[in-house]
Amino acid sequence: MSVTILVINSGSSSIKYQLFKGNSALAGGIVERIGEPKSRFVHRLFQSRQTIEETISEEPVSNHGEGMSRIFTALMESGCLQHEADLLGIGHRIVHGGEAFKEPTLIDDQVLTRIAEIIPLAPLHNPANLKGIQVALEICPHVPQVAVFDTAFHQTLPPPVFHYPLPYCWYKTHHVRRYGFHGTSHHYVSKQAAAYLKQPLETLHLITLHLGNGASATAIKAGKSMDTSMGMTPLEGLMMGTRCGDIDPSLPLYLTQALGKSPEELDSLLNRESGLKGICGTNDMRQVHALAKAGDPLASLAIEMYCYRIKKYIGAYYAVLGRLDALIFTGGIGENDALIRNHVCAGLAHLGIVIDHKKNQTAGHDIFAIQGEGGAVTVLVIPTDEELEIAQQTLALIQNQKCLDAHS
Ligand code: ADP
Repeated sequence: MSVTILVINSGSSSIKYQLFKGNSALAGGIVERIGEPKSRFVHRLFQSRQTIEETISEEPVSNHGEGMSRIFTALMESGCLQHEADLLGIGHRIVHGGEAFKEPTLIDDQVLTRIAEIIPLAPLHNPANLKGIQVALEICPHVPQVAVFDTAFHQTLPPPVFHYPLPYCWYKTHHVRRYGFHGTSHHYVSKQAAAYLKQPLETLHLITLHLGNGASATAIKAGKSMDTSMGMTPLEGLMMGTRCGDIDPSLPLYLTQALGKSPEELDSLLNRESGLKGICGTNDMRQVHALAKAGDPLASLAIEMYCYRIKKYIGAYYAVLGRLDALIFTGGIGENDALIRNHVCAGLAHLGIVIDHKKNQTAGHDIFAIQGEGGAVTVLVIPTDEELEIAQQTLALIQNQKCLDAHS
């Protein structure tokens, strides 16, 4: 049991978790609707990535502390843990690390204070992430805890890339810059691609497309993020499930006046009512396809817009990288949607991107290559696993720390 790592992703009303032994997930689940009358707790046991048992309970969970206790009770009752001390470490997903955190960090009081200082940059996420750390520390005060930041991988962006063309003093006074998100996923799939290609990551030029409900593209050179489509917040960049992505920066002002909305209402409309949902009424890509198939012109428009905008980023990042070794699709849509992959890659043969339609139809849980004949660029579909990446980074940091302690 000694190399067991628990990964926690704490949201405002939910806690997701996964327990790893080495690279294998033993158990996982979610406590959701915390603080609401009808909470829900789903606990699953895994074997070879498949769920072998699922328990669902709908008793009220009044706060995060109670949610975390339920998780530990379930892990112990199902025999995955004998005692909290069996855990080698706990890895916490933290959305925003600002400029302070460039890598996974062992949590202490000072780190907690610094994460709290970043709350203005991620007012919805960081407080919820901090709550997860606090309740885990209460239950396991002696287990090392590590913060893994969604933004950290993008801290390698060069200054001309991360600065916005705005008054420079706003960067100094209000921390206005591109941070980028989904870093754990982009980092994970880039390493997976290098292993699959049997080439050192340091030699590769990659474009990674994380296409889930949120979506972002990243240009990666020698293992470093060189540009990424999300910005100061996750609203910038690609068209997403409910987020607009890139729009004319004058539009919010115009729309607050034209619609008579407050800035907060408009922010919510751009984040929750736009993207695929704004164009055709649903953010679920499977439903968008069903509507398009049934002849809904707005669903077809949404698909075309979605793919066109990804294509533009591929072109831009190709120019940034100068050479492209592999294009990588990941996330719920990137991993499962052959039609979107096909639309995105269509017409890119002049960039060396050609896909094989039969290979593109492959379905499964493993990495597969879909480039076709005559394509110079390897096109890969790679299932992302942000929890495993957090577990690996947590373990590496703790082992490193133990080595340092042993030699000091
Ligand atoms: P999140 O960002 O919430 O983690 P996911 O990575 O799970 O999101 O991706 C959710 C998106 O993936 C949804 O739009 C969903 O419709 C889409 N999706 C999931 N499975 C499929 C599939 N088999 N075919 C097409 N789209 C899919």
